[in-house]
Amino acid sequence: MPTTFMPIKRRQFLAGTFAAGLFTVFSAQNVFAGIPKKDHWIFLSDTHVPGDPKKILYEYNPHNHFCQVRDEILQLTDKPQGIIVTGDFAFLQGQPEDYKNLKTLVTPYLDAEIPVHVSLGNHDHLNNLYGAFPDFQKEKPLVADENVAILETPNCNLFLLDSLYQTNVTPGFLGITQLRWLKKELTTRQNKPAILFAHHNLDNGPDTLMDREELWVIIKSQKQVKAYIYGHTHVYRQSIRDDVHLINLPALGWEFQKGKQPLGWTDAVLSGNGIELTLHTIDKTRSDNGHVRQFTWLR
Ligand SMILES: [Zn+2]
Repeated sequence: MPTTFMPIKRRQFLAGTFAAGLFTVFSAQNVFAGIPKKDHWIFLSDTHVPGDPKKILYEYNPHNHFCQVRDEILQLTDKPQGIIVTGDFAFLQGQPEDYKNLKTLVTPYLDAEIPVHVSLGNHDHLNNLYGAFPDFQKEKPLVADENVAILETPNCNLFLLDSLYQTNVTPGFLGITQLRWLKKELTTRQNKPAILFAHHNLDNGPDTLMDREELWVIIKSQKQVKAYIYGHTHVYRQSIRDDVHLINLPALGWEFQKGKQPLGWTDAVLSGNGIELTLHTIDKTRSDNGHVRQFTWLR
């Protein structure tokens, strides 16, 4: 069963076959030092960018979606401090050419000094990501074999988790090592609200996060955790569990409900007591384009 089956994480299988230093992670960063009270972010999810810019799936062209959104974001007068992608950055199998194309596509962000942070999804591949983005590899990993990060902002601490289990295998998995690390880091950061980011949803079912209940035990014990933000379902929705906001971001690459779900990006403003999300859809004729959702909490 998902909550009791604890498989060895895929990179623990691989660890013996590669040099130990190959598997590194993002390190903790104080990203806003010197910019008081500024917490403006862009959230993307399920970009599914292929190596071939002309590739179409479900009648959608993810490459073109990515380009449109990037141009919109770069035109914002209030420059965001960073972009967080909650997984499925690559098309379907995390191929090297997908990340090569992505590297080209994100270069204008990097030129504009807007960092891009990626939380891996089930269609990603760590070493292929690092092949195109060698700067993502850090010398001192926070967790061995896991691509995790902590972003300390003026108003919140953001924890980017790695729920990739195996590439192109639908369920996700964090693993005991990552969960222990998360608990330890949360315990030492109780002074500000914490927001967790990962690819997989926490619903019951075979295709979600396998160790979701183990994660939830930690979340429940750390009252500063105010939101869990994720992708995977390609549905823009929200719920609350134990006073924690569960925010399912809209996908960018494609959706499965024949236009019922928005495709696009969300503009996020983080304050000490909430998140304001503004939806920007690919299709500008949609009635939900520009719609704002507020997620609040008590400190
Ligand atoms: Zn996806």
